[in-house]
Amino acid sequence: MRIVLATSNQGKVKEFQSWITEYPVVAYTDLLEPFEIEENGTTFKENALIKARAVYEKLSPTTDIILSDDSGISIPILGGIPGIYSARYAGKEASAKENLDKLIRTLKEHHIERTPAFYTAAIALVGAKGEFCVHGWMHGEALAKAKGTNGFGYDPMFIPAGYTQTLGELDESVKKSFSHRAKALELARIILNSLK
Ligand code: IMP
Repeated sequence: MRIVLATSNQGKVKEFQSWITEYPVVAYTDLLEPFEIEENGTTFKENALIKARAVYEKLSPTTDIILSDDSGISIPILGGIPGIYSARYAGKEASAKENLDKLIRTLKEHHIERTPAFYTAAIALVGAKGEFCVHGWMHGEALAKAKGTNGFGYDPMFIPAGYTQTLGELDESVKKSFSHRAKALELARIILNSLK
């Protein structure tokens, strides 16, 4: 059984390859010309399934399992923003730094110094045996300032529950042990093993 990732993001490809060692893992762009997939779902689950389905349809018929993930950070006191829009919070082509700066600015505009926040990861699996989707969450607090340079995206402003430092300051191995993606992948692995 082979896993095809519905992403061309080399960072994600490397991350999944380091986590899934039981099966060969390739990016869909190793098999197909890259194509635009419109993420027009209203939930992490819908967007993860949209991406996996799009690649599966192009490869079908196939015995490959297509895996895709969708993730983001949510601030409940502000209605869950940026949520599914995390990657494009400051605009379609915005950099991670612009997104981070905008969220910090938004907290400051609301006079919030720190507030509960959580990351969500949805992982979709699509193959000949059907469609599946699992989730993982990491809870903690968002700060109205950036601290540290580890991790990526919103990590410098996020303190995981039980810690006093941001993910930007903590060693990356700490995050890897309990992140939203790690938890979702634990569940995805159970499904993968039942599909082989
Ligand atoms: P995706 O690639 O469409 O799933 O977008 C995920 C976006 O959510 C990223 O661009 C980040 O802005 C944010 N995000 C998701 N997971 C993390 C994380 O572990 N740390 C920091 N930011 C994250």
